[in-house]
Amino acid sequence: MSRKETKAVRIGHVTIGGGAPVVIQSMTNTDTRNVKETLQQIEALAKVGCEVVRVAVLDQDAAYAVKAISAQSILPVIADIHFDYRLALIAIEQGIHGLRLNPGNIGARWKVQEVVHAVKEREIPIRIGVNAGSLEKEIREKYQGVTAEGMVESALKHIHVLEDEGYDKIKVSLKASEVPLMLKAYRLMSETVDYPLHVGVTEAGTVRSGLVKSAVGIGTLLAEGIGDTIRVSLTGDPVQEIPVALSILRTLGLRERNVDLISCPTCGRTQVNLAELAEQVETRLSSLPALDRPLKVAVMGCAVNGPGEAREADFGIAGGKGMGLLFRKGEIVARLPEDELLPALLKEIENYVKEHGKD
Ligand code: SF4
Repeated sequence: MSRKETKAVRIGHVTIGGGAPVVIQSMTNTDTRNVKETLQQIEALAKVGCEVVRVAVLDQDAAYAVKAISAQSILPVIADIHFDYRLALIAIEQGIHGLRLNPGNIGARWKVQEVVHAVKEREIPIRIGVNAGSLEKEIREKYQGVTAEGMVESALKHIHVLEDEGYDKIKVSLKASEVPLMLKAYRLMSETVDYPLHVGVTEAGTVRSGLVKSAVGIGTLLAEGIGDTIRVSLTGDPVQEIPVALSILRTLGLRERNVDLISCPTCGRTQVNLAELAEQVETRLSSLPALDRPLKVAVMGCAVNGPGEAREADFGIAGGKGMGLLFRKGEIVARLPEDELLPALLKEIENYVKEHGKD
């Protein structure tokens, strides 16, 4: 998959753009002033694969809390600030790694200059984030509503404010809750500038609806080579966003996928509790260490078609009536009572990990 060439920016130790792997981001939903809780959530996010985290900075106390958060966070931290340039200056001073701020909303030119001067000294990138829901009135009027062209014009306005001050460590996002609108806006932006793009569907919804919207919106753009960092926005605990983001990247071959579970959809032939079996195997697979080669495991509903349908799997089980099959590369290697199937499969996986696990 060829990717659009973009400039690289660095947020702490993480590179975004310039051909670097697509970076997964999220945002804490704790009160940023509560350093302990915020750090705990950052740790939970990092544990499941988040690589950069954003915190909301709503007031001076939050801006000062950024000091302890940035210093102790295992992920680079971005401060999300609206309108108040003083909060940006404090957060920069406290050691933040990145800013999300729309410079056109700060007001007087000298305020922008102060912020740019401070970020220049520390090479802190700024993400310009345009949201369809808060597009400027004059742009909405010009385009007779919220359009992709209007969103791009708004982003360019903010970009030019920074460029006029000689600053180009910029990332851009153009989020909308309507997928066709965000797709059009990102495509247009990608043709217009070579700054790295932060891709996401905003207000995507709960896990169920948000997952589909994000997979379609983010996945479509990534498949076209657009996007350097992604955020899956789901209502609730941000930790649940990360497996979805990883799944999108793996599905597109943008992340190493060396452990893969396949399971059949079940049909009238299924005579075992396949959903539970697949669930248990998935849990076991999710805690496996990195392997030096791919591992594909199949959990199939019937002994008639299962092994054949999962021929390319390294290992698998196929349920039957009171018994089941253990198979390797499509070949049946054991016929076992139903309750022995799962332990036998897990043993095979453990042996495989012993042989191929990376240190
Ligand atoms: Fe049905 Fe068997 Fe295919 Fe599963 S593997 S969908 S149970 S035929």
